[in-house]
Amino acid sequence: MTPGPAPAEKCIFCDIVAGRAPAYKVYEDEQTVAFLDLFPLTRGHTLVIPKRHGARLTDYAPEELAAVLRTLETMCRRAERLAPDYNVGLNAGATAGQIVFHLHFHLIPRYGESNPFRSTGRKRLGDDEAGNVVAELSAR
Ligand code: AMP
Ligand code: ZN
Repeated sequence: MTPGPAPAEKCIFCDIVAGRAPAYKVYEDEQTVAFLDLFPLTRGHTLVIPKRHGARLTDYAPEELAAVLRTLETMCRRAERLAPDYNVGLNAGATAGQIVFHLHFHLIPRYGESNPFRSTGRKRLGDDEAGNVVAELSAR
């Protein structure tokens, strides 16, 4: 028996995992999935999540976290195709800026922005742009 809450009734990331909501997926295995952030901070902004619902790190067993970290490492390696540098981020709780309460790591390639932590003016990802990024990030 693994710890943590049951799947949330209204969780957009659970919907993505179940195929009920669309996503630009770039990686998937038995326990984890990675997909493009719909409002990317930079080109290739990716979210890495466990398939099982939980709000934050402490809702998961170490083996589950290990699976997420393996996927994160895979995606970090692939992100280096886009840019050599990147940030990995985790928001835990509303006051930390968490909006979706299903654990996710942000992987944000960096291209030399003057203020990498500015998060205003994010535009919704379009199909054309997403298609190119998906091709680059989903290749093994
Ligand atoms: P956080 O503030 O850490 O909870 O970040 C949640 C992230 O999920 C934000 O960067 C959103 O742009 C992103 N997001 C929300 N809904 C979707 C979705 N349906 N598909 C992809 N990314 C999403
Ligand atoms: Zn969920």
